[in-house]
Amino acid sequence: MQQISVLGSTGSIGVNTLDVIRAHPDKYNIFALGANKHDARMLAQCLEFHPEYAVLNDENAALRLKTALHAAGSKTEVLSGAKALVEIASSADVDTVMAAIVGAAGLDSTMAAVVAGKRVLLANKESLVMGGRLFTDAVSRHGAALMPIDSEHNAIFQCMPRQYESLQAAGIRRILLTGSGGPFRQTPLAALAGKTPEQACLHPNWSMGQKISVDSATMMNKGLEFIEACWLFKAQPSDIEIVIHPQSIVHSMVEYTDGSVLAQMGMPDMRTPIANCLGWPARIESNVEPLNFYTLGALEFTAPDFDRFPSLRLSIDAMKQGKDYAVALNAANEIGVDAFLNGRLGFTQIADVIAEVLESWRASEPDSLAAVKDADHLARESARAFIARVSN
Ligand code: NDP
Repeated sequence: MQQISVLGSTGSIGVNTLDVIRAHPDKYNIFALGANKHDARMLAQCLEFHPEYAVLNDENAALRLKTALHAAGSKTEVLSGAKALVEIASSADVDTVMAAIVGAAGLDSTMAAVVAGKRVLLANKESLVMGGRLFTDAVSRHGAALMPIDSEHNAIFQCMPRQYESLQAAGIRRILLTGSGGPFRQTPLAALAGKTPEQACLHPNWSMGQKISVDSATMMNKGLEFIEACWLFKAQPSDIEIVIHPQSIVHSMVEYTDGSVLAQMGMPDMRTPIANCLGWPARIESNVEPLNFYTLGALEFTAPDFDRFPSLRLSIDAMKQGKDYAVALNAANEIGVDAFLNGRLGFTQIADVIAEVLESWRASEPDSLAAVKDADHLARESARAFIARVSN
């Protein structure tokens, strides 16, 4: 029986994870659940999965949860705060950690799981975007395993050899990272500026949290994934090509030097990569609808349009520049997306915020998570200052 902590259990990935686990009570036991403030959702999860611990970052929400669980006669212990999230990620009783907290808030608990040598199911792409080298070094130093949950990276993982020294030595010519192009793939460029948060969050193929939905509309999500892929697969930026594939059926591909291209296909449903990582190296039931090739229709593939999606170019450049450029990129994007969702910034201005922050960025090589967080803080300040100037 694998003992599992699900961090971000109340979110889109967390809920899908619990759905896969629900189908395998003989294989997986929930040791702990962690989230931020949604106590009602967490209450229902605790009453169903009976974890040892439930952690809410928000103190008041944790208090409400504690009272409700007590009234229901539950034995789950409720904790609050970021330190408690680190504890449930690194506890000696845990085998596997689902790292699905959104944004930079997931950094510490993900690193704690890595340092404790856990099998880490990585949804929180920001960990690798912000702390790439620190994370990959810690994974090898502490004997942890990093299993990619992002559907594209999971697809690449499935198309890769089990072990390889370098892409070149494995006979890999390039990695083809696919992306749907989001809801605005064909919107006239002039109409992009007026797009609302509701329109940006209406993804054609995937149902996801708000932040990642906006990132898909700007294609910043693909930019972050590009950076994540470089770290996960020991790839240089020149090894990865982005391919627009609006149907989201091919989740990514790996091309070998003999001309073979291996692709992983499936319905756009996160339960497939989640089940793949949970069960690996075995295959387990995910309850995902099978692909029906008779009704699928045509699959299209085109080149990305960097004029339409400037955030994509900014991300690739940030990875090429190295140092802490990706930290600045990610922080500026988080602040920009938040301002857009709160009506303080137009859709196309999200990329303006990122470009502005990167332009004046004084980069250095971060040697610790503390240095990453300092850089993150500085970039956020710079982004807020820019937004204050343009939104007045
Ligand atoms: P959601 O917004 O749906 O959920 C976010 C989760 O993080 C919630 O459980 C939330 O808790 C929790 N959370 C937020 N802030 C904190 C905090 N300070 N401390 C503890 N918990 C916190 O996001 P998604 O599930 O969509 O995404 C999660 C991660 O997975 C992201 O990094 C995303 O990029 C990645 N990802 C998501 C995919 C998807 O299909 N959704 C696909 C691939 C990657 P609460 O509900 O209490 O606020």
